[in-house]
Amino acid sequence: MKLERILPFAKKILEKAVRRGDIVVDATLGNGHDTLFLAELVGANGLVFGFDIQEEAITASTERLIQKGLLERVTLFHEGHEKLLENIPSIHHGNVTGAIFNLGYLPGSDKAIVTRPETTISAVEQLLEIMAPEGIIVIVIYHGHDEGAIERDILLDYCQQIDQKAAHVLQYQFINQQKNPPFIVAIEKR
Ligand code: SAM
Repeated sequence: MKLERILPFAKKILEKAVRRGDIVVDATLGNGHDTLFLAELVGANGLVFGFDIQEEAITASTERLIQKGLLERVTLFHEGHEKLLENIPSIHHGNVTGAIFNLGYLPGSDKAIVTRPETTISAVEQLLEIMAPEGIIVIVIYHGHDEGAIERDILLDYCQQIDQKAAHVLQYQFINQQKNPPFIVAIEKR
C-alpha cells in the first residue's frame, strides 16, 4: 500500500514540526513507545515531558528509556495531562513544538482506565497555550471501544470548532476499513 498508514503518518507529522534541541510532550505515555521516538527526535539537547495516570506506564516508559540510554532528556510525570500547564516549567512555555496523544487504554492492562474527552480537551487547550507557532499536536483516536466512540465524537466536535485563525486542524482516516481502526487529528498552532 502506497498510502501512509496511520501510526507512521503520526510520526511523519511530528518529524515535520520538531527539530533537534526542541521541547515536546507525550501526553499519554503508556508503554513508552512514543516517548522513545520523541526522545530520539529531539536529540541530546532536547527535552521530552511525559504524562500518565498509571504507575505501570511510568515504570514501562522508564525502563524503555533506560535501555536506550535516553532517560536524561525525558521528564516523566505520574499525573494526568490535564495538569500539563502546572507541571511543565514556565521557562519552556511558548517553546513546545510537538505533542502526541495516543488515546484509549494501556495495551495489556486494565481496559477500564481510558482517556476521557474532558481531560483530553483540557490538555489540548493547555498545549495550544504553551506551543510555539507551527507547533503540532497529533491525536491518535482509538474508537473501537464504547468510551472511545464517545470520546471521538466529543473531540471531533471540539476540534472542528477551533478558530481557524488559531490553528489548522487535519483529520487523516481510512474510511472503508472494518473494526474502527484508529485515525489521526493533527492541530497546528498558527
Ligand atoms: N503512547 C503509548 C505507547 O506508546 O505505548 C500508548 C498510550 S495508551 C493507548 C493510553 C494511555 O493513556 C494509558 O497508559 C492511560 O493510562 C493513559 N491515560 C489515561 N488518562 C490519562 C490522563 N488523563 N493523562 C495522562 N495519561 C492518561
